[in-house]
Amino acid sequence: MPESTPTTSFPALPRADRRTRLQNSLLAWFGTAKRDLPWRRNRDAYGIWISEAMLQQTRIATVIDYWLAFIHSFPTVQDLAQASEEQVLARWSGLGYYSRARSLHRAARSIVADHGGEFPRDRKTALVLPGVGEYTAGAVLSIAYGLPEALVDGNVERVFTRVFGLRAVSGSAPLRKHTWDLARRCLHGASPGDWNQALMELGATVCTPGEPHCHACPWSRLCVARRRGEASAWPSPKPRRKPVELKVAGLWVVNKGGLLLSRRPAKGSMAGMWELPTQQSQCPGASALWLGDWMPGLGVAGPECLFEAKHAITHHRIGMTVLKGKVTRKALSSNPSTLRWFAWGQLENQPLTGLTRKALAHLAP
Ligand code: SF4
Repeated sequence: MPESTPTTSFPALPRADRRTRLQNSLLAWFGTAKRDLPWRRNRDAYGIWISEAMLQQTRIATVIDYWLAFIHSFPTVQDLAQASEEQVLARWSGLGYYSRARSLHRAARSIVADHGGEFPRDRKTALVLPGVGEYTAGAVLSIAYGLPEALVDGNVERVFTRVFGLRAVSGSAPLRKHTWDLARRCLHGASPGDWNQALMELGATVCTPGEPHCHACPWSRLCVARRRGEASAWPSPKPRRKPVELKVAGLWVVNKGGLLLSRRPAKGSMAGMWELPTQQSQCPGASALWLGDWMPGLGVAGPECLFEAKHAITHHRIGMTVLKGKVTRKALSSNPSTLRWFAWGQLENQPLTGLTRKALAHLAP
């Protein structure tokens, strides 16, 4: 956008004739451009709900394999409700944002206990479920049940900003409210599920962040941003939070049977997940050998670095150095709930942190 200080201004909501042109062109495009995704092969509310929970903050290409494995392990909402939290976290392991998995699990139990095993068919009831917000409710109700419920996610917000010429900072409260008004006003009454999916598909594949593919867009003749030659500059980016750099050390301690892992605390980030015994360095950037500060009886066996891994979680950038470690029997017997040996074959089904999975992929025999 040309202004150095972004202003907020919205044109009037579109009239019926414009809405009809937008709807017809987008639905016709979606009929040919729709990607074949496993959760699109039927209208099962359970599978659609799981996909929507996984897709928050995660790319479709990553989600597909996780979704298939999750549905294989928990084919129905009853299976998910009966599983232990540890089993659910193990299937989620690597996707990050583990509070989503815990909410999904609690919501499954509520659906079985309070809703006859079916995802609720009205928005107000759906919103009471743990982890189900306005977006997820709109997605499941419109796609699975064909109900006239709107949705807005980051893709829809970006597309509307450009096509309707909305001047506002990405993610700002006024823009969020206005895009919801637009989403309700423009919703296709006869095909709300297809309409919502088409909007998100357009944002994910054509009207992408950065340089959109306007030449391939069904709305290229209707788009305000394109007409002004400003498509890539809309919406105004929100101020970026500076990433926090963290440096940690992990211990690779093996015996004949397998690998030693420690359990994270029951509260806080990645609560209850298993990881290499890990500690944070107090001196990022220094070539510290992390010789102290482990629990008594657990420590570094040799100074050589076995592996270096990088991982990003929200605004944290974590660099982990994996060192060869050692542990005494005394340390194990005095910390039985937080230190445990896992056989190599058991590890796949444990709730492991992303960094630990990376180290395993590189170092496991
Ligand atoms: S014409 Fe370009 S900017 Fe406008 S909606 Fe289509 S892809 Fe997005």
